[in-house]
Amino acid sequence: MKDSEQITALRELLATPKNILITTHHKPDADALGSSLGLAGYLKKKGHRVIVVTPSDYPAFLNWMPGHEEVLVYEPQTDARVRQLVSESQVIFCLDFSALSRINDMSEMVRQSPAFKVMIDHHMFPEDFAQVTISDTRAAATCELVFEVIRALGDQELIDAQIGECLYAGIMTDTGSFRHPSTSRNVHLIIAELIAAGVNTARVHRLIYDNHTLTRLRFLGYALKDKLVVYPEYNTAYIAITQEELKEYDSRTGDTEGLVNFALSIEGIVFAALIIDRGQAVKMSFRSVGDFSVNEFARAHFNGGGHHNAAGGISHDSLAATVAKFESLLPQYQEQLIHSA
Ligand code: 5GP
Ligand code: MN
Repeated sequence: MKDSEQITALRELLATPKNILITTHHKPDADALGSSLGLAGYLKKKGHRVIVVTPSDYPAFLNWMPGHEEVLVYEPQTDARVRQLVSESQVIFCLDFSALSRINDMSEMVRQSPAFKVMIDHHMFPEDFAQVTISDTRAAATCELVFEVIRALGDQELIDAQIGECLYAGIMTDTGSFRHPSTSRNVHLIIAELIAAGVNTARVHRLIYDNHTLTRLRFLGYALKDKLVVYPEYNTAYIAITQEELKEYDSRTGDTEGLVNFALSIEGIVFAALIIDRGQAVKMSFRSVGDFSVNEFARAHFNGGGHHNAAGGISHDSLAATVAKFESLLPQYQEQLIHSA
C-alpha cells in the first residue's frame, strides 16, 4: 500500500473507538460482502462498534460468512433504523463501489451524513465523496485492498481464519477462481498469508460454488439450451431472460451469478452479455476478453460501468427493446470485436 497519507489518516481516525458503519453496493457479491465482513471483524477486534448495512439482500450462498447474521439489509421497513445509524455513525466505510449511485436508495443519506467517509474500492473512475479514497483499479478485489490496508496499519496478525475466509471469498470470486489477468503475484502472496492464518480454501470454494439448488441447475440448463444467442460475426454471445422465466425457475438473488461466463466460454467469443428483466428495470452484465472494454460499452450505452473486462448496466426500456438496442450496437464495434481476442 503506497498511499501512506491515506493510511496515516486512517490510523489517526481509528486510534480511538468509533461508531462505524460499513456499506457496499446493491446486490452484494462475495467481494462486496466479504470485504465488508472482513473489515468489520478486524475493526471489532480493534474495539470499535461496527455495523454492516447492505442496500439490498444478497445471495444465500454467502450466508456462511462469519458476521453475516448481524448484517442489516436496508429495506423500507427498517428505513428509520438505518437512517438513524447512518446519522449516528462517526465513520462510514464504502466498500467495493466507486459511485454513490451504486448504493441506490441509501446514496442520499450517506452523501448527506456528516460522518468521516472512507472509500476502499477497485472500480474505475472513483467519485470524490470520501475524505479518504483508497482506490486501485489494478487490485483484483476490494478484499485484496482491505487485506493491504490492515497490513499497512500494522495489524496483519489480527487477521484470523474468520476474517480471512471473508477476504478469501472475495478474491477467489473476483479473480474467477484465480483465472483472470488480475490474478497477480500479489494476489497469490496474500492468499498464502490467508492460508497461514487458517483459511480453509476448499471449504470456501465448496460453500460458494457447490451450493446450487436443483432448480438453479435446471435453470442453467434451460438458459444454455434455449436462450443462448451467438453472433459469430461479432464474436458475441448473449442470454436474455424474462421475468416469467425467472418466476418459472423460482429464481433467487444470486441464481443468475456466473451465467454470463458460460456465454463467454464459447470458443472465439470475446464479448458476452446477460440481460435480465427484473421488473423495475432491465439489468445487464457484460464480460469480455482482451482489448474490448465492456466498461466503456456499459458507460456509453447502458448507464453503467465497472471494470475493463467485467461491467454492468441498466435499461428502463422493455426487455425486447433493450435486446434490440444491444444487437443494433454490435456492428459499430465489429472491428474491435474481431481484433480483441
Ligand atoms: P456483475 O455483472 O457481476 O453484476 O457486475 C460486474 C461489475 O460491474 C462489478 O464490478 C459491478 O460492481 C459493476 N457493475 C454492475 N452493474 C453496474 C451498474 O449498473 N453500474 C456500474 N457503474 N457498475 C456496475
Ligand atoms: Mn469487487
